Amino acid sequence: PRVTMLLRSTTISTAAALPVLTKLQLDCATPLPVLRHIADAMAADMRAGLAVDGGSDLKMILSYVDCLPTGNERGLFYALDLGGTNFRVLRTQLGGRDDRVIATEFEQVSIPQELMSGTSEELFDFIASALANFVKKEGGKFVLPNGRSRETGFTFSFPVKQTSIDSGILIKWTKGFSVSGTPGKDIVACLNEAMGRQGLDMRVSALVNDTVATLAGARYWDNDVLVAVILGTGTNACYVESVDAIPKLQGHKSSSGKTIINTEWGAFSNGLPLTVYDRAMDAESINPGEQLFEKTISGMYLGEIVRRVLVRMAETGSLFGKHIPQKLQTPFALGTPNISSMQQDTSEDLEAVGSILYEVTGVDSNLDARRMVVDVCDTIAKRGGRLAGAGIVGILQKMEEDSKGVVFGRRTVVAMDGGLYEHYPQYKRYLKEAVAELLGPELSSHVVIEHSKDGSGIGAALLAATNSIYEH
Ligand code: BGC
Ligand code: MG
Repeated sequence: PRVTMLLRSTTISTAAALPVLTKLQLDCATPLPVLRHIADAMAADMRAGLAVDGGSDLKMILSYVDCLPTGNERGLFYALDLGGTNFRVLRTQLGGRDDRVIATEFEQVSIPQELMSGTSEELFDFIASALANFVKKEGGKFVLPNGRSRETGFTFSFPVKQTSIDSGILIKWTKGFSVSGTPGKDIVACLNEAMGRQGLDMRVSALVNDTVATLAGARYWDNDVLVAVILGTGTNACYVESVDAIPKLQGHKSSSGKTIINTEWGAFSNGLPLTVYDRAMDAESINPGEQLFEKTISGMYLGEIVRRVLVRMAETGSLFGKHIPQKLQTPFALGTPNISSMQQDTSEDLEAVGSILYEVTGVDSNLDARRMVVDVCDTIAKRGGRLAGAGIVGILQKMEEDSKGVVFGRRTVVAMDGGLYEHYPQYKRYLKEAVAELLGPELSSHVVIEHSKDGSGIGAALLAATNSIYEH
């Protein structure tokens, strides 16, 4: 017993780590004035990005999607979805207004780590070969009229300068990708070449961002969807804009008078409450100085920020014993799923927290230490969720300022998707609270923030249908 006592008292000391937590909470605070500033700055940056290319952190990319699905789409369509973590292929048989989605099938593979930093050919060969295998398994439920090529939508979840609905140039990689040879290239050409190598005959009818695909997928079921937000490995938002409100557009014609703008809000940076941990993580990242909003609020980074705080606590407060655990010092050793799991632990002795901490430190923690770790997770999730909420309000505010009543004079739906939003209940709650705080009860009664699960797959297929070269 004496030995254990000694062990416990020498390995764990939360008192000395307390100032680290207190300072963290102070630096991450997002009281209403801070949120208000973020929302206003988001709206102002949107305007600057719409005025002229390069006018702001926000690229405000034209999607060339001027018409959203109506429900009348018919026929067989495919979708490819290259996200941050997974690659998915999907086919769907659309039956028009009454029958809607007659059949859907999909397959998902996680992207092998080495492909994220390999060559462009390797990545696109992997995509094309997964697609070719999937096409081979097409069964009798799916009908392609004679003499036609299969058509697909391609959801590509990175910043692309669109040159038309079915072509666009990769601006840069994000989310840990650093594939050589793709930036500056036409993404559809890369895919077409790889499909050629596979002997696959498939026409890419629409190249879209995942936010745009999510908006299309959600709009198929609900006409009031005006905004889509992804909170997953990375983050981004798109929305329905009036052509008149886009000075940089110059001559682009839209039959509907509207078009979808991909904000690329992950690059937002104005007035973020950042800490020493954020700055160090950014400096050591593969894209320093870029995607600062994304690095503060999205799934790839929240766990990593927490890990950095815990290392600090281990250094100054010997939170995990005399030595700083080796594994805890490894970047990205603590994932956002881990910190979400720790926050879901409602047991009295925080057993789940203890076992996750044991996994990344190799040290047994006492209850005080576990509580402190949960407080760190909560601080980072709270800041992230609240800032994301402020970003959403910024978009709504900008839309309403330009055209009174377009958002708050009716029901307006914000379609949400992404693993972070889906699997981190506290984060989602903080996001919604921030929106409600900023808007107040009257305005927020018009806004529905709704999970649109996997809307991007079907959304891309729908956009392939609306942009099909055939009559359907
Ligand atoms: C990319 C966006 C994408 C978002 C969510 C960001 O890193 O720049 O294009 O929409 O992640 O997947
Ligand atoms: Mg995705």
